[in-house]
Amino acid sequence: MTTTEQPAAEHATATGKKVYLRTGDQFKQSLDDGRRIWVNGQEAANVASVPALSAGVDMLASIFDDQFSAEHSDVLTTYDAGLDATISAAWMVPTTIEELRRRRAVIEYTTMKSVGTYGRTFDLAPLITVGLKAYQPTFEKSSPEFARNNPNLAANITAYLEHGKRSNIVMAEVLADPQNDRSGPSGSTAGLLRIVSQEADGVRVSGAKSVGSIAAQADEIVFTNLLRPDFPPEACVWAALPVGTEGIKLISRPPVSKPGADPYDHPVAYRGEEADQFIVFDNVLIPNDRVFNVGDPELLQYYGRVCAWLHWHILTRLWYKAEIFVGAAQAVVDALGTARIPAVRAQVSELINYAQTLKAFIIAAEDGAFMTEGGVLCPDIPMLTSGRLHSIQNYPRIIHILQELCGQGLVMRFSKADFDNAETGALLDSLLPGHGISAQDKNRLMNFVWDLTSSGLAGRVELFENVNSTPAPLLHERIWAEYPRDMMAAKARKIAGL
Ligand SMILES: Cc1cc2nc3c(=O)[nH]c(=O)nc-3n(C[C@H](O)[C@H](O)[C@H](O)COP(=O)(O)OP(=O)(O)OC[C@H]3O[C@@H](n4cnc5c(N)ncnc54)[C@H](O)[C@@H]3O)c2cc1C
Repeated sequence: MTTTEQPAAEHATATGKKVYLRTGDQFKQSLDDGRRIWVNGQEAANVASVPALSAGVDMLASIFDDQFSAEHSDVLTTYDAGLDATISAAWMVPTTIEELRRRRAVIEYTTMKSVGTYGRTFDLAPLITVGLKAYQPTFEKSSPEFARNNPNLAANITAYLEHGKRSNIVMAEVLADPQNDRSGPSGSTAGLLRIVSQEADGVRVSGAKSVGSIAAQADEIVFTNLLRPDFPPEACVWAALPVGTEGIKLISRPPVSKPGADPYDHPVAYRGEEADQFIVFDNVLIPNDRVFNVGDPELLQYYGRVCAWLHWHILTRLWYKAEIFVGAAQAVVDALGTARIPAVRAQVSELINYAQTLKAFIIAAEDGAFMTEGGVLCPDIPMLTSGRLHSIQNYPRIIHILQELCGQGLVMRFSKADFDNAETGALLDSLLPGHGISAQDKNRLMNFVWDLTSSGLAGRVELFENVNSTPAPLLHERIWAEYPRDMMAAKARKIAGL
């Protein structure tokens, strides 16, 4: 498919106003597009036939349906003056602080919807397009010899943004390279995605991208390579394609969630997961209108700036998720009657402090927002980088505290079937009640905290939080590069009389 062949999202309304929104069913149907996915060594007939994938798709589909609900439409949809239509608020391009905060409400909604376990949810990857728009003048100037058949990269950004708004699509965002030998020149590694030929209609690429979270469950993939010092021009590519494009093959990691489980047993994991895919590009044609960069290393240097809104999304989601952790902790100490113990209260306070600190980073980043050359309001980037480092360095400790507060409860959990059994159910009911809470409800709370902190799903999410948008060592490097150290040194020298 090309840009012009995407599923139409336009609906007629009684008032005659244009609405570019899809229903959950329309979204699900559009995924049955012949895409090639392997899970546990078997090629899937389609996404719906793989429980771990389809439960996640159902979760996404319910977001599409919420766009039409009285409860959520105010947050999930917005009026777009350029199109004179109602569109998904995920595709807003913020130009004022009010719009940035308005857009943040979508992140709060998607975090609550997935309990923060979907990092690449519905509204994340559209922010890459927002970032491309923010630096469109720079893309306008780029015309490397390599891009001879793709003259107008900037026009492609405008067209893609409009396509996203009109088609109400979900995208995966993939940067990571396959994990080959890192000791040699990165330009020579086997899996590196690179352009293998140019044709009148576009460029052909081969190679792979790794850890494409949600790719199998999304409409499209936006992908690039991260610039390294020794990169050949043919590895400098930035583009977006439908997942069903000929030559794209997705190999999934083993599933970690519990689709089909009773929600009592797995209050979070029954909702499925965003699966991670190894994405192979086997001589794939990228049509000219889907290319944002081809052959220009300078443009790859803009990746960090283009991703600022994405990083704002990630940190915001962690803030809202931290508030869920605080709520879970309070519910646990209430249920166990441990809230009167000062040492326990100190642990809950530590969770509160984590949530408050992440909130402060976000408020400060929004407060220090600046206008980009393309007229998009961007949260303060150094503030986001520091916030991201703080969020991932403390995440394992926060998880540990939540586990600690539960004591034996995270291990001595029982299934709904245990409570439904006449003999064991009666024993558990009579022997395990908590402080003003029945044994069954206390057990369900522990099942919830298990899914959040200790299950296979929680393990994947913890690894995701640690590295999904670059691990701590790289964030330290970014802070070193971004912070006005010289200015501070000048102040210190002046005070010291130097
Ligand atoms: C569950 C999960 C989901 C993910 N989802 C996505 C996704 O949707 N999209 C996407 O693009 N990526 C995704 N990622 C990948 C993530 O971007 C990478 O894992 C991350 O950038 C680190 O790259 P790497 O794994 O290739 O590390 P490697 O290059 O294999 O290096 C291993 C480790 O060595 C250290 N290291 C390596 N190079 C340096 C350096 N230059 N400076 C300092 N330390 C270094 C780091 O500690 C690093 O973690 C996901 C990862 C996980 C685990």
